[in-house]
Amino acid sequence: MFTFSSRRAVVVTGGSKGIGYGIAKVFAGAGADVLIAGRHRDVLDRAVDALREYGGRVEATVVDVADPSSCRSMADRAMEAFGQIDVLCSNAGIFPTARLADMTPEQLEEVLGTNFKGTVYSVQACLPHLEASGHGRIIVTSSITGVITGYPGWSHYGASKSAQLGFIRTAAMELAAKKITINAVMPGNIITEGLDGMGQEYLDGMAASVPLGRLGAVEDIGNAALFFASDEAGYITGQSLVVDGGQVLPESVEALQEI
Ligand code: NAP
Repeated sequence: MFTFSSRRAVVVTGGSKGIGYGIAKVFAGAGADVLIAGRHRDVLDRAVDALREYGGRVEATVVDVADPSSCRSMADRAMEAFGQIDVLCSNAGIFPTARLADMTPEQLEEVLGTNFKGTVYSVQACLPHLEASGHGRIIVTSSITGVITGYPGWSHYGASKSAQLGFIRTAAMELAAKKITINAVMPGNIITEGLDGMGQEYLDGMAASVPLGRLGAVEDIGNAALFFASDEAGYITGQSLVVDGGQVLPESVEALQEI
């Protein structure tokens, strides 16, 4: 398993469910102290109860990552709880659909405001504490969507996920002097509560497009984030890792059928 030179305090935005919950679970299991953050207190409280079973101290705070002052309060809460922030997992995100022809300025702003600006604001808020740790790590949850693939209705979402990767390249250079690394994980199709109720046929159809033959688990993304936060990944910055079971590889339907 990956190692850490000392105890780590980790902030996970969007840690109340889905991929963020999986990231929080993996870090808690590795013995880290974890602060999860999201907009809904009731969902956060349920997640804290479940996460405390995996070890480490787990706390929660309400945040709207699209609001810079709310992000600063989140960082304050982590400092109050743990006295340090070593790792930020900037994961909170939304993915409503809107066709380009009908997309309103409000819809565009909502998606870019949460997914892209929310990443920038979360990083800015935690920056002084990550620098103070002497080994700060930032892991951004991007996507294959927008960077490698497209999906009708998600042009704004895809742009927000691409923007995150544009952001980390230069951020990595600016943060290097502060001994902070910043990297991104690009998930493929991951099973989350959002897919509940879609039916087995739908899930089987999605899994059939993945060479490894299954949809991703939230822990698959958590493990990649844990790697980027580990001592062993200390020389990696400004990079992005696709975690998709090979989903982006087939160059045609025929290529998939040849497996
Ligand atoms: P999810 O299950 O809907 O969880 C989203 C999390 O973000 C929740 O904790 C949610 O809590 C929080 N959140 C949303 N808006 C927020 C805001 N303005 N401020 C603070 N927290 C906010 O979604 P998910 O599928 O796990 O997605 C998580 C990340 O993975 C996103 O960045 C998404 O783009 C990326 N991703 C997901 C997949 C996938 O297959 N699931 C694939 C590629 C990339 P509240 O609603 O309570 O705020």
